[in-house]
Amino acid sequence: MRGICLILLVLSAAALAMDASPAAPAVPPAAQASAHFDVDAATNAWLSIVPAAGKARSDAYFQGGYWLILWDFLYTAAVMVLLLEIRWSARMRTAAERITRFRPLQSFFYWIEFLVITSVLTLPLTAYESFFREHQYGLSNQNFGSWFRDQLIGLAIALVLGGIAFAIVMAIVRHLPRSWHWWGAAFSAAFFALAAMIAPVFLFPLFNKYTRLPDSSLKREILGLAKANGIPVTDVYEVDASRRSKRVSANVSGFLGTERITLNDNLLNRCSPQAILSVMGHEMGHYVMHHILNAILFASITLTILFGILRWGLDWSLRRRGQRWQVYGVGDTAVLPLAALIVITVSFLTTPIGNSFTRMQEYEADIFGLNTARQPDGEAEVDLLLGEYRKLNPDPIEEAVFFDHPSGRTRIHAAMRWKAENLCLFDPKLACASQTGR
Ligand SMILES: [Zn+2]
Repeated sequence: MRGICLILLVLSAAALAMDASPAAPAVPPAAQASAHFDVDAATNAWLSIVPAAGKARSDAYFQGGYWLILWDFLYTAAVMVLLLEIRWSARMRTAAERITRFRPLQSFFYWIEFLVITSVLTLPLTAYESFFREHQYGLSNQNFGSWFRDQLIGLAIALVLGGIAFAIVMAIVRHLPRSWHWWGAAFSAAFFALAAMIAPVFLFPLFNKYTRLPDSSLKREILGLAKANGIPVTDVYEVDASRRSKRVSANVSGFLGTERITLNDNLLNRCSPQAILSVMGHEMGHYVMHHILNAILFASITLTILFGILRWGLDWSLRRRGQRWQVYGVGDTAVLPLAALIVITVSFLTTPIGNSFTRMQEYEADIFGLNTARQPDGEAEVDLLLGEYRKLNPDPIEEAVFFDHPSGRTRIHAAMRWKAENLCLFDPKLACASQTGR
């Protein structure tokens, strides 16, 4: 009997805890609704909440990331050149040919050798970047064993899915020697679309535990928001992101009946209900505005250009150094390090384009979220949390080149601009733009 009471007590405490998200931080005076509300002053007031030491640490972390883009590129490029120059790539091809005479399987085995060797050679940089550096800045909760396990799962997925994709691309190159770059691009775009569709359902659960969010007023409000925006979801899930980091996030994923809303536990534990609703409005914006489909279309265009460059670049390099590397044409699996070298060079040089594409979508989702959730102060609260690892106040060129999401300043400014036109929602005595008949 006592046991049952205890269980009931724990359960009701858990249910209470669900409803009792942390209280919203006090809105700074300059950002409170008033007759003389000023967008810039309100934005600065929110930004000035962050202590100088926290801002310095976040700036150092984020700016260090700019250099990592360069080091990642140079290090990986060096590994690819090494594989060609010391003819390891040629040797891996010969080894794969000894295992089987079936060419698609040769491609698959070559891929396994290639991926294992490059993963081992780049492990020091990967470990520094995604484990040691994260701990250095206090952003990770994960121990090394658990981190390494994640890496192995990721590697296993890349071995299987990447191996199948590589075998298919090589078959296309061999069978369509004149037009392989068109078909290769079309196949890669389809593969990318398929991966985007199956990942939330089949791959993400390999890394995290997903549980149904218990019923609460917040959950009902989230489902109402989804319904109002025509999103066919019936449940909200929680994912245990806190076993890795303190980062807050959420998403709306799925298709054809698998649509679901997922909030990470950091968001639930660290944010006020207003902030959670603002994040949900943002994520629903991605869904309603078909951002995944847009990203697939964008990828199709960039892949077509990339395969065109690849065709030209491979022919050009193989004519000059193919004999020396013992790589005998584009249909030879041993060409992979060269292809990878060209791909990473193009993607390194076009970093600002890729970043700007995502950043523009994120900004659109912010505007959608403000209109839907109507929580500009909740938005500012989340933006400051995201500012723990993303520079809050960059200069505009820096933002255009390096930011794949808008900076905290841009996002808070948009929220305060929205608030300025909707002051009556926060104080009935004040005017709203929509009421003044403008
Ligand atoms: Zn987003």
